Amino acid sequence: MAVTRAMRSAAAHSLTDAQPVPFWLEDPGRPGAHPALAGDERCDLLVVGGGYSGLWTALLAKERDPGRDVVLIEGKEIGWAASGRNGGFCAASLTHGLGNGLARWPDELPRLEKLGAANLDAIEAAVARYSLDCDFERTGEIDVATEPHQLDELHEMYEEAVDLGFEGLELLDQDAMRAEVHSPTFLGGLWDRRGVAMLHPAKLAWGLKRACLELGVRIYEHTPGLDLVAAGPGMAVRTPYGRILARRVALGTNVFPSLVKRVRAYTVPVYDYALMTEPLSAEQLASIGWKNRQGLGDSANQFHYFRITADHRVLWGGYDAIYKYGGKVRAEYDDRPATYLKLAEHFFDCFPQLEGLRFSHAWGGAIDTCSRFSAFFGTAHGGKVAYAAGYTGLGVGATRFGGDVMLDLLAGERTERTELEMVRKKPLPFPPEPVAWAGIGITKWALARADANGGRRNLWLKAMDRAGLGFDS
Ligand SMILES: Cc1cc2nc3c(=O)[nH]c(=O)nc-3n(C[C@H](O)[C@H](O)[C@H](O)COP(=O)(O)OP(=O)(O)OC[C@H]3O[C@@H](n4cnc5c(N)ncnc54)[C@H](O)[C@@H]3O)c2cc1C
Repeated sequence: MAVTRAMRSAAAHSLTDAQPVPFWLEDPGRPGAHPALAGDERCDLLVVGGGYSGLWTALLAKERDPGRDVVLIEGKEIGWAASGRNGGFCAASLTHGLGNGLARWPDELPRLEKLGAANLDAIEAAVARYSLDCDFERTGEIDVATEPHQLDELHEMYEEAVDLGFEGLELLDQDAMRAEVHSPTFLGGLWDRRGVAMLHPAKLAWGLKRACLELGVRIYEHTPGLDLVAAGPGMAVRTPYGRILARRVALGTNVFPSLVKRVRAYTVPVYDYALMTEPLSAEQLASIGWKNRQGLGDSANQFHYFRITADHRVLWGGYDAIYKYGGKVRAEYDDRPATYLKLAEHFFDCFPQLEGLRFSHAWGGAIDTCSRFSAFFGTAHGGKVAYAAGYTGLGVGATRFGGDVMLDLLAGERTERTELEMVRKKPLPFPPEPVAWAGIGITKWALARADANGGRRNLWLKAMDRAGLGFDS
C-alpha cells in the first residue's frame, strides 16, 4: 500500500484526540478493586493471576467441587492486563487456527477441534448461566483476502478443512464478501460461522470475577505473589503483607515472570496495538454494511483484526508485533504512536468511505508469545503447582480450556485433555539475548517480505517451518 502525504496527514489528524488507554477498561461498569491481603491465609487451591486464566480456573474449581476453599490473588486489578484490553475475538481454536494446528498436531487435530468447540459452547453456557453481561455474540469470523495469493490460500484451507470433516465454513467470493462488509480492498473471504464469538473483553473478566465471588472464591487484588516455596504438604506464596498456605497452586500469570522460574524461557512479550473509533453514524454504518457483525481478520502474515462494538464503533488492531530487546514487560511499551499512525493509515485504506471518522482510543498490550503459538501446560513441585501460558494472542477462549487442564493436572487425573500431545509436550524455549532479539527481528522482516512478495516464504522462513518455529497466519 503506497501512503501519500495526504493520507498520512489525514491519519494523523484522526488520532489527535485518541486517549492512550484501552477503550474497554474505561467502562462506567468497571467494578472497584477488592482489598489487598493483609495477614495470613490458608486454602485448598490458590490461583495466582486475575485474568481469564485465573478466573476460569477458580470458577471451574468451584464448579467441580463447591466445597473446595479457593483463593485468587491478583497483582494489580482483575482484568487490567491482556484480558481487559484484547480484541474480544473468542475463538474455539485451541491451536491458534487450523493451519498452525494442522502443521503441529495433524493426528490429534480433529480431537483438538472437538474439544475447542465444546470449550466455546461451555463459555456460551457460562455467559447465560451466570448472566455475564459481556455483549457475547456468536457471529463467527471471516478471514479476508486482500491479495490474490491470499484468495488461493483461503481456498486451500477450505478444501483441507472440508476433507477433515469440519462444518460451518463458507467461502465468499468478492461480491459476497463485500455484501457482508464493504471495502474496496476485499477480494473474498472464508467465514467460520460457529467457531468464534465476539465479546466485550473487560466485561467478561468483571463478570467472571462476580461469578467467582458468588461461588465463594476469596479474591485479593493489589496482591502480587512474590515467591513460591514448598511448605509442609503444600505450598506457600509470599505477598507484600501476608503469606498464603495452599495445598495446590494454579498459575495463570500469562506473560509476566512465572513464579516457577524455569517456565520463563518459554514465552516472550510481543506487543500488539489497537485503535477504537468513535461511534459510527447511521450513514457511516450503512456505507460499510456489517449487519452480521462478524469479527474480521485479513490473511497476511502481518495481519489486521477488526470488529464492530455494541455501540457501533470499529476496533482495528494488529499488524505491528513489537518485541523489545531484553524481553521485559513494561507499562511504557503499551503506548506506541508510530504504530497507531500506521494502523490509522491502513484503516482508511480499507474503509475510504469513513474518511473524517476519528479514533477515540489507542492502546497496546503484551502477548505471551511462545514458539508454537499456542498454549503449553505443566506442573512443578511434585504436581502441587500447575501452569498454563503461551496463548500467543488467541487466549480469550482457550484460557478456559487451560484452566480445565491445570485442574486435571493438579488432581493427578488422566483425562482426554491430559492425554493430548499438545498438553504433554512443551514448545522449544527461546534462546537468551541477543539471539532471541536477532531471531525475532529476522523473522518479522522475512514475514513482511513474504507479504510483499505474493506470500512466497524465503529460506529463513522455510528453515523456521522445518524446525517447527514458522508462523503463517
Ligand atoms: C492488544 C491485545 C489484543 C488481543 N486480542 C485477542 C483476541 O481478540 N482474541 C484472543 O483470543 N486473544 C487476544 N489477545 C490475547 C488474550 O487477551 C490473552 O491470551 C488472554 O487475555 C490471556 O489471559 P490470562 O489470564 O492468561 O492473562 P492476563 O489477562 O495477562 O492476566 C494475567 C494476570 O496475572 C497477574 N499476575 C502476574 N503475575 C502475578 C503474580 N506474581 N501475582 C499476582 N498476580 C500476577 C497480572 O497482573 C495479570 O492481571 C490479545 C492480547 C492483546 C494484548
